[in-house]
Amino acid sequence: CELSSSMGERRRRTHAMLFPFPCPGHINPTLKLAELLHSRGVHVTFVNTEYNQERLRRRRGGGGELRSREGFRFEAVPDGLSEEERASPDRTVKLYLSLRQNCRAPLVELARRVARCEGVPPVTCVVLSGLVSFALAVAEELAVPAFVLWGTSACGFVCTLRLRQLRQRGYTPLKDESYLTNGYLDMPIDWIAGMPTVRLGDISSFVRTLDPTSFGLRVEEEEATSCARAQGLILNTFDDLESDVLDALGNEFPRVYTIGPLAAAMHGRGGDRANGHGGPAGLSLWEEDAACMAWLDAQPAGSVLYVSFGSLAVMSLDELAEFAWGLADSYHPFLWVVRPGLVAGDRGTDALPDDFLAATKDRCFIAEWCAQEQVLQHGAVGGFLTHSGWNSTTESIWAGVPMICWPGFADQYINSRYVRDEWGIGLRLDEELRREQVAAHVEELMGGGDTAKEMRRNAAKWKAMTEAAIAPGGSSYDNLDKLVDELRQDEA
Ligand code: UDP
Repeated sequence: CELSSSMGERRRRTHAMLFPFPCPGHINPTLKLAELLHSRGVHVTFVNTEYNQERLRRRRGGGGELRSREGFRFEAVPDGLSEEERASPDRTVKLYLSLRQNCRAPLVELARRVARCEGVPPVTCVVLSGLVSFALAVAEELAVPAFVLWGTSACGFVCTLRLRQLRQRGYTPLKDESYLTNGYLDMPIDWIAGMPTVRLGDISSFVRTLDPTSFGLRVEEEEATSCARAQGLILNTFDDLESDVLDALGNEFPRVYTIGPLAAAMHGRGGDRANGHGGPAGLSLWEEDAACMAWLDAQPAGSVLYVSFGSLAVMSLDELAEFAWGLADSYHPFLWVVRPGLVAGDRGTDALPDDFLAATKDRCFIAEWCAQEQVLQHGAVGGFLTHSGWNSTTESIWAGVPMICWPGFADQYINSRYVRDEWGIGLRLDEELRREQVAAHVEELMGGGDTAKEMRRNAAKWKAMTEAAIAPGGSSYDNLDKLVDELRQDEA
């Protein structure tokens, strides 16, 4: 309770407790939302897992990112995972199950404990990310409203909502292995309100299962439909980007707050300087390689392809080799994030072929992790080869950088479909990777041909629309005001 009792704290009577699923794709947008709420006078308690909190503390800089300050505190609850579970290849599934089983009571207890600190108002609302719907029960037990920040696009959310109908109508699970390759996944689906015809395979990775009891399918369905129990749904998108699907979603969810892209919204209010964290609002679970920024400084404008597959994707050794040789054959400079664990068998940079490193050393920088938002905003970056995670996609849209997409999980398929076909800002690689196609797409994106010019024009247009959305009077800016008003409703 060391932060209690100043006048400033007493003035903040609305107290939001935010709890994201503990991975960067959920933590980062939730932290940005926390910062935005705090900047508008809301008292914030941001809850990490103890494991991540400790990991962040141990990172160089002594965990300065976690410094609590007036009206903004970091707290932690145990995630309940054993060391053995943490080391297992399906640790994310184990984490999901463990949080469900073990975290409800500690979160309730935490909310009650912080409210006992002098000058700290009682928790008046709970904000969750996706995948932690169990914590809706925390809000119910505290008798406060819950809001869910669902971390995908609106189209990703709607697709996830429709998984139940796809299952009930027999589209999924697939009958046998041949359905993965016989063109079945190309079947048009034209009955999802607000979405132009999409292919079955675009909807989500979870339709690709053969298992009638598929864990992933069941979890996604349950997580999305349980959002109806929340008082409001918050989306990291903006109205003009997904207007049709948002109109349709409004019929099912009366309170949708589109306040994104959160990376841009944070920056718009001077995020880097104002938030008291080391960098833009984000808790980086890996050390960011600062040297890549100096390397970018030395590259010509728009010349560099940035390559990253987010925080969770795992590729095979063969796929890594196809990317490596495709990049080597494209002759453009590239900055490649090869995170520990990106390659099956918990491997990372050690899995890169030696002759590839020798062949590309004059025009490549390999980092284990970087400050991605800053990288994408750097003038030297002209393209992004991405797994199409939603945070990465919005960060790229905000930066006006066109993409090459290689989706592999969950909403990444629908994101890449929109990037290429709806927004006209990207290319897509075949699922079965071939180095020739990697090299050809890089050439097409980074070269000066007509397709590249068209994508750059579209990317510049979406960048301008992003900036308009987050500026005062823009849709995301106004929707954040509405959200804060809604959170404040119960203020005494
Ligand atoms: N990220 C980063 N540094 C990197 C790679 C990724 O900071 O080297 C951040 C990125 O900016 C984004 C998040 O990690 O905010 C990844 O989220 P996304 O939704 O794109 O993918 P996920 O990790 O959930 O698959």
